[in-house]
Amino acid sequence: MGLLTEGSPLSWEDTKNLADHVRKHGIIQFINLYKRLRDRQGDVLKWGDEIEYMLIKFDDEEKVAKLSLRAKEILNILNEEERKNPQNVKSLWRPEYGAFMIEGTPGSPYGGLLAHFNVVEANMHNRRQEASKLLLPGETLMSLTNFPRMGALDFTDPPAKPSPDSGASRSLFFPDDAIYSGHPRFKTLTRNIRQRRGEKVAINIPVYKDKNVPNPFKEDLKSLGDDGSSAKVAKDDHIYMDAMGFGMGCCCLQLTFQACNIQEARTLYDQLTPLCPIMLALTAASPFYKGYISDVDCRWNVISCSVDCRTEEERGLKPLKENKFIINKSRYDSIDSYLSEQGDKYNDVPLVYDNDIYNQLMDNGIDRLLAQHIAHLFIRDSVSLFSEKIHQNDLEDSDHFENIQSTNWQTMRFKPPPPNSSIGWRVEFRPCEVQLTDFENAAIVCFIVLLTRVILSYKLNLLIPISKVDENMANAQKKNAVTAEKFWFRRDVTFNGKNTDNNEPEYTEFTVNEIINGKKDVFPGLIPLVNSYLASMDVDADTHCTIQRYMKLIQRRASGELLTTAAWLRKEVLSHPDYKNDAVITQRINYDLLKKIHDVQSNRISCSELLGPCTTSKTTETIPAAVAKAEKCPSTGH
Ligand code: GLU
Ligand code: MG
Repeated sequence: MGLLTEGSPLSWEDTKNLADHVRKHGIIQFINLYKRLRDRQGDVLKWGDEIEYMLIKFDDEEKVAKLSLRAKEILNILNEEERKNPQNVKSLWRPEYGAFMIEGTPGSPYGGLLAHFNVVEANMHNRRQEASKLLLPGETLMSLTNFPRMGALDFTDPPAKPSPDSGASRSLFFPDDAIYSGHPRFKTLTRNIRQRRGEKVAINIPVYKDKNVPNPFKEDLKSLGDDGSSAKVAKDDHIYMDAMGFGMGCCCLQLTFQACNIQEARTLYDQLTPLCPIMLALTAASPFYKGYISDVDCRWNVISCSVDCRTEEERGLKPLKENKFIINKSRYDSIDSYLSEQGDKYNDVPLVYDNDIYNQLMDNGIDRLLAQHIAHLFIRDSVSLFSEKIHQNDLEDSDHFENIQSTNWQTMRFKPPPPNSSIGWRVEFRPCEVQLTDFENAAIVCFIVLLTRVILSYKLNLLIPISKVDENMANAQKKNAVTAEKFWFRRDVTFNGKNTDNNEPEYTEFTVNEIINGKKDVFPGLIPLVNSYLASMDVDADTHCTIQRYMKLIQRRASGELLTTAAWLRKEVLSHPDYKNDAVITQRINYDLLKKIHDVQSNRISCSELLGPCTTSKTTETIPAAVAKAEKCPSTGH
């Protein structure tokens, strides 16, 4: 979830009064950083994955599964290893929003060699083992995008009560005890987002209208302690949620790339943007919310609403008086503008940005595209500020910049090098939902990394107007989007559209299958492009085999031959003997589902409708071992 500075959080009033201070110094810090680092060259391509996990506690007697709130205890032990031996750990562990979540990354980044793909899955496997060793009997670590009964009655271990009248969330459903307490950031964000907005956040996700779902579907909120404010915003036929935890308590799979220079980082940022909705649809894994089956497959809008700190004025519901801008999106959403010159003409959505900041950036030699991007991020107020961090040295620190940057949770993130480090310009790819098994997560990671190589080596152009990416984001979350929806995508990605007929638009609608696997005479397909790139490389037999297994999984998911995680989860619940066609996920259904997931993820049972014939790949433990092996066993001429 980004940076964690230590300290004592300020009240919302104080934070609010310092909003301009944070912005002012954040911008100066960015300008200083930019001047120092814009010409930085020659960083090598490095990359890494980030996986968020949930701790599940099974009670096999009662047949219930709950979220275990022991992340802090487990993290303390995991981080102790890192403190003792910072240079030499296999994985790095960080807190996340939920008191039931932990986030893990490889101990050191991967590099440009294809042989590194042989390590990814083993590293994910080890990571899981490492944390799993610290679990108590009955506990399991799961890479689950959302816990099906999160926010339903009695979903935590130990039990915790929501507190509608006090605390950070004021939720009818989500207890503050389920927010990570090892660092004040998470509760502070929760409180400040609610206070800034002027009311609790409101998340309404359409319920799956199965035949025994009441018409209209409406929950009794009063009995939970609602003072009327929830009833006012809860929509009929929707699953209503009222806390940041419903969104930020979801898990995802992210990737970070270091580019060779700022230019390449801009290119990657832009070119990966149209892939965000496609990868969101393909990785869809969260059809259940608060104990109900919903009518969507992805977490995206849930998180977006869960941190929507915009006031009524900013949401356009009241004339602007206190606030400066009408803002059309939450802090968590898809990006609003491209950064490269090539992307400029596809920036078709009017960008809301702070004019003074924009001018200040331009006056300091920052180009228009980057200036408007930063000035756009900086329309937001700080929503968490620590007393120790108010006064900073703008030549050396970048905390105020990071304060705003790290609470703009967008599909892509453009990251300048941190001060005083050997790290270069980076981009983060953030849309993917996390999959149940290491095999699937490794497949997605390798696919995206390979796409970056293909994009850069073939100078591909995947750009479509931002407004079309937004449309795709909305479609990607719909139920069964992979097989049922169409997405705007560029017809000709190889020749910058120059060889298409003038009358034909540069982009048209495709299914995910056509985008991934190709459409005859129209579009070659992303996997065929990856394969043609690989054919021009010297790939050793092991690596070739690993990559092909991963690409097969992606291809089969895209074609509908295999189910998406979301489709599989739906199927499991709908076919449970206890299911009453009422969209309700009972404790027992939840328990049986999570038990099955546990068996699938630990390879105890096979699940060919989700994974196909292979469920793991033969991988190698460490990067040096994988490289040595690849050198010994050169290309087999694939
Ligand atoms: N858990 C959030 C998600 O599912 C991301 C939080 C982060 O930025 O690390 O998108
Ligand atoms: Mg995270």
